[in-house]
Amino acid sequence: MSEQVVIDSLAFAQGNSVSSGNISVEKLPRLREALMARAANVSYVIEGGVAVRPYLRLKLSGDLPLLCHRCAQVFSWHLDTECQVWLAQNVDELAAWDREADGLADAMLAEVKFDWQAWLEEEVLLALPVSPVHPDDGCSAIAEQGNNERPNPFAALAALKRQH
Ligand SMILES: [Zn+2]
Repeated sequence: MSEQVVIDSLAFAQGNSVSSGNISVEKLPRLREALMARAANVSYVIEGGVAVRPYLRLKLSGDLPLLCHRCAQVFSWHLDTECQVWLAQNVDELAAWDREADGLADAMLAEVKFDWQAWLEEEVLLALPVSPVHPDDGCSAIAEQGNNERPNPFAALAALKRQH
């Protein structure tokens, strides 16, 4: 399937269009920097529709190489996320929605040349864990727990006191 980098977001929504595929992280420089390897793909589905207002929905999945903050080894983190944004047709509409309450927080201006890959990249970055760790049973730091020599905070305090 050919990958269009830009879509007319409003037409996409109004046409109930669907686009899906796989994108290499090679094409997503900010995400690539956040990962431990380049050989990774993100599967995506973009769905357009109208529910009173036009919207785009994005479903993302993939296995991304991250560094475990507990054992400092690379592991495959499973991405599975979904989001939806409402499309405002002009700045006034977007401003009016901003003043409204719940449910319209995720709104953006409709664009004739909407860079959906940038949106996808942003959403993956948002979904990444701040402090990634292996699932408990897969982390060698957990397996070795008990044998670990952990620094004793009271020993450090005693050392400080001796300096006075
Ligand atoms: Zn780990």
